[in-house]
Amino acid sequence: MTKKNLILGAAGQIAQMLTDNLLTNSDYQLVLYGRNLSSRLTLTNSQRETIIDGDFNDHDKLIDALQGVDLVYLNAMSSAYDVQQIIAALDEAQVKRFIGATIVGVDNEFNTELGNWTKQHLNADYINEETKSAKLIENSDLNYTLLRLTWLYNDEQNHQYHFIPRGQTVNEAQVTRQAVSDAIVEVVNHSGKYQNESLAVVEPGTNFGKPSFY
Ligand code: NAP
Repeated sequence: MTKKNLILGAAGQIAQMLTDNLLTNSDYQLVLYGRNLSSRLTLTNSQRETIIDGDFNDHDKLIDALQGVDLVYLNAMSSAYDVQQIIAALDEAQVKRFIGATIVGVDNEFNTELGNWTKQHLNADYINEETKSAKLIENSDLNYTLLRLTWLYNDEQNHQYHFIPRGQTVNEAQVTRQAVSDAIVEVVNHSGKYQNESLAVVEPGTNFGKPSFY
């Protein structure tokens, strides 16, 4: 039977690239969930895509969206409250496999130069919320893959990424959203391989101390 992937926050930049990428490079049925999606997204494959308009806090809609779902991808972890609601809904719907996009920094894994620059350029509350969200996922009984993204930019020609496991220092300052979308497809298509892991997603060779576009 065809598997079903729920994308939460589906109007987001990475989520939209991921949707196109999964339509081309996987067999999954896709449920696209987010605020006012009906008026914001145009479906390219109505046989494989379903849209559900809803906020992460619309419990009943989220439960409906989770019916028959094998795997969930969450494109925003900047509210620990929202993440707590989502974990509760997954528990209730008995969906275990979860992939979430968060930031490098939630494990204090940046080297000093890049870490200092990041702390100066990101709101402390934002880092705290992302960190709390990551801990909630890690302490849940979900079968999770956390993707800790370094600074993002867009370049359709650049799909270079590599994963850095939990516990290792991260020096790379940037990665494209296009590459992140490929990284998520890799995890989705090899779902058994990355279970209960937290992986930084970075572009090799970008040890610049800060992103090149700043
Ligand atoms: P994005 O375009 O901001 O996508 C996030 C999506 O999540 C938005 O469409 C947003 O909906 C949705 N969302 C948030 N709260 C929601 C809620 N309560 N209910 C329903 N939908 C909700 O982000 P991106 O560029 O794809 O990046 C993905 C993630 O990486 C983001 O969480 C970002 O914080 C993180 N990140 C960013 C950087 C960077 O350099 N910018 C670096 C590392 C990680 P609306 O469109 O309706 O607001």
